Amino acid sequence: MSTLGRFAYDAMPRYAFRAPPELRGEDRRHRVAIVGAGPVGLTLAAGLARHGVPCVLIEPREQASFGSRAICLSRRSLEILEGFGVAGGILAQALPWTDGTSFWRGHEVLRFAMPHDADQKHPPMVNLQQCFTEQALIDALADRPEVELRWLSEMRAIEPGPDGVLLHIGTPEGSYDLEADWVVATDGARSPARQALGLHLEGESHDGRYLIADIRLHSHHPTERRAWFDPPSNPGSTLLMHRQPGDIWRIDYQLHPEEDEHAAQREEAVRARIGAHLARLGEPAEYELILVSVYRAHCRTLPAYRHGRVLFAGDAAHLLPIFGVRGMNSGIEDAGNLAWKLAAVVAGEGGEALLDSYSAERVHAARRNIAEARKSTLFMTPPSRGHALLREAALSLSVGNGWARTLVNPRQSTAIAQPDSPLSTPEQGEWPAGTPGPGAVLPSVPLTLPGGGAGHLLDLLGPRPTAVVVAGDAAAETVLAGTPGVTLLRLGSGGEAGAGRATALLGLAAPGSGYLLRPDGHVAWRWRRFEAGAFAAALARLLGREGASA
Ligand SMILES: Cc1cc2nc3c(=O)[nH]c(=O)nc-3n(C[C@H](O)[C@H](O)[C@H](O)COP(=O)(O)OP(=O)(O)OC[C@H]3O[C@@H](n4cnc5c(N)ncnc54)[C@H](O)[C@@H]3O)c2cc1C
Repeated sequence: MSTLGRFAYDAMPRYAFRAPPELRGEDRRHRVAIVGAGPVGLTLAAGLARHGVPCVLIEPREQASFGSRAICLSRRSLEILEGFGVAGGILAQALPWTDGTSFWRGHEVLRFAMPHDADQKHPPMVNLQQCFTEQALIDALADRPEVELRWLSEMRAIEPGPDGVLLHIGTPEGSYDLEADWVVATDGARSPARQALGLHLEGESHDGRYLIADIRLHSHHPTERRAWFDPPSNPGSTLLMHRQPGDIWRIDYQLHPEEDEHAAQREEAVRARIGAHLARLGEPAEYELILVSVYRAHCRTLPAYRHGRVLFAGDAAHLLPIFGVRGMNSGIEDAGNLAWKLAAVVAGEGGEALLDSYSAERVHAARRNIAEARKSTLFMTPPSRGHALLREAALSLSVGNGWARTLVNPRQSTAIAQPDSPLSTPEQGEWPAGTPGPGAVLPSVPLTLPGGGAGHLLDLLGPRPTAVVVAGDAAAETVLAGTPGVTLLRLGSGGEAGAGRATALLGLAAPGSGYLLRPDGHVAWRWRRFEAGAFAAALARLLGREGASA
């Protein structure tokens, strides 16, 4: 990555090294150590803190990572970060958006809007430079006593054992050994932890390369995703444009197969391509070039994310193409899935089967993401003459043919359901179509909060499983109120919260019906007639303790 202009990226806060107790020879045993304080490690730390579990983060840098990198945060990521109490700083800066437009040569071929309606708490996507997302998380974690962030500390070796893991940490003041019950490797695409354990990502890498540039430009164009295929300004190329806060614009364009990567990154070469594009758009000719790098798409995943007491998340576990914005978002979803499970295991409330379910569920999600992102990558960087011809056919047919436009849809990241989760129990009774069954991610359900304000059901999920019932079923309420480790939420007249749209969105009409929800918002079970034994079995399964009493 080369930096050409000056921007706030150069002025991020720096953090001093503070010698930890282990360097003074004191023995410490940590519940959880997280290797790598990128967006995924930071989110996981926030999640563990939300569940009351202390953790130590090991990070070789002395500040947030440099530059814009992943700029699009999905609705699902915002829900997870908000549930962990760390979304505020991000939402205060980020630019929300819903729409996108694609062009082929001189024609508009697609105008899309991601699903959004009055029920939603968050927009489908917001844009914020990754370094600012990370800084907002660092700031939010500063006053969490459960989280200890060790800057200028590098994991140099990892020794997994049957009861714990030993990490060898290098620092400016010497090295020390760190013992932890559990280690989560969130140490990025090159993951030293993955390499040290001899693990390999499976999948494919694509040859197509994109140049990524950030420019500062005073433009009045609204925040949306724009894509140009074979544009008159850059014939034969594909170009993407996204707005970021601070009058910064991300411009990604495809390099020709024979193009020299280093020559393509020279300022005059970048300015020639971007200048031609801005001129066609009628944008100001004056702009500042902030940074430039080159990107190549990978579709790879580890086949399992749990290796004894070492777990993998984010880029350390899987590499996804930028098309459809699944890279950082899928890592945040990993952290959302893992935090409550690891917390339950550490607290002795859940079985280790929860951690196997983390691996199974998130590998499933990575494979779904790869399948979608691969299609987008083949469209954005056609690897052969045949793919290029097919793309041209789809784009040309899209001019004036509505049916062909689905072929050019960019397939933006969406929340991934877990229909085969080992933690789910088959639903009991009949439910209206379109309502979320076991494994689904809870939709945004607006309702009246306890105390009278407007809110959403997601705001009321606790750090433990939540049972949602229609108020008035005295027998169920008595059992559920007396079940340890379960938050009971009664909707409707006489309950803690108004039913609002829950009746329609969840199919919760009559007393007797209910949902059992996981702390990460996935549905674990739902019933039409409450029965204490069936509930206890579903709860035991949710907690990875099937066969044991809940
Ligand atoms: C130039 C660039 C542009 C990108 N653009 C996009 C984009 O447009 N859209 C998108 O979705 N994604 C994009 N990505 C990918 C996105 O940045 C990643 O998916 C995201 O950062 C993954 O987060 P992570 O926390 O898993 O890993 P990282 O952000 O890589 O964080 C890993 C952390 O581990 C630390 N670490 C490494 N080694 C050690 C060690 N030995 N000990 C302790 N800690 C260690 C690192 O210092 C780092 O802080 C881009 C990436 C790059 C590099």
